[in-house]
Amino acid sequence: MAKRQRSAVSCHGSGFSNVALPALSLSKGRATRDLAPLVRGLALMLGLIGCAGGQAAPPKEFNGQQALGYVSAQLAFGPRIPNTPPHEAMLRWLDSMSRARADTVVLQRWKHRTLTGDSIALTNVIARFNVAATTRVLYLAHWDTRPRSNGNTKDTLAPVPGANDGGSGVAVLLGVMDALKKQRPAVGVDILFVDGEDYGLFVNDNHDVLLGSKYYAANPVAGRPDFAVLFDMVGDRNLQLKVEDNSEIAAADVVDLVWGTAEKMGFGSTFVRSTQGAVTDDHVPLISAGMRAVDLIDFTYPAWHTKDDTIDKVSAESLGIVGNVAVGVIRKVK
Ligand SMILES: [Zn+2]
Repeated sequence: MAKRQRSAVSCHGSGFSNVALPALSLSKGRATRDLAPLVRGLALMLGLIGCAGGQAAPPKEFNGQQALGYVSAQLAFGPRIPNTPPHEAMLRWLDSMSRARADTVVLQRWKHRTLTGDSIALTNVIARFNVAATTRVLYLAHWDTRPRSNGNTKDTLAPVPGANDGGSGVAVLLGVMDALKKQRPAVGVDILFVDGEDYGLFVNDNHDVLLGSKYYAANPVAGRPDFAVLFDMVGDRNLQLKVEDNSEIAAADVVDLVWGTAEKMGFGSTFVRSTQGAVTDDHVPLISAGMRAVDLIDFTYPAWHTKDDTIDKVSAESLGIVGNVAVGVIRKVK
């Protein structure tokens, strides 16, 4: 991941002027945010999604310790940088793990020409449950890791191991698939592992980043989902997930569903209903394509984009909280 936008308002540039809000066609700016409670109420009245309030908490089906093992397995490949052997090995593993759990798996392969003229081979992996279902939830995380740390010294130019930035999101989604294999979902679920999120710099219209989500937004295998949730940097042992601004603007009712489910499950001290500002991340291309998407991200991570993004910064407990909420949300959707 990703970069923090300068302010909550800066994200409402050209890319956001056509965001389709649920139930109302409101556009950008402060007025949209002030109307968020109205939008949320209308969406719930229309029965677009189940209300997290007033219902029993879903059971805890997710195994955080196993998810930590999935982080460890990824780190064992080395940095998962496009056009490198660890990246290829990780893809084979992700494909086989997905095929062992989902009903069907789709690979999207393409080549991207970078700003420096290099060609990189990228692959999205889409693991699908209940392909024929019309109500569909899309969960996504990036599986690549960053080729270089932030900064200019020899030390900081080292690749990012990606325990949290890359590894945690993938681990949560693999654990979600474990739960869905044990007890099948009532709705359609598409698990999207996007490639090339973190390859380049967040410059020149984000030309070399968010590549997999941009590709998927232009080529949506599963059509337009009822909503999408992005999992990025969700394993920090000091995890606190505040609401990201683009998410609140694009899908306030989904924010309610996710944070409300977390509260019901006893995770209200981790899922906190205050704002953390806007972040440029893989949910942005989906929102720009008209999807309702929210980003689960803890941006207060000291090891972010450094060689210190290692497994000791990640905990089974944090992964377990996020994974249990992720499965719980699927169980609530009708
Ligand atoms: Zn990153």
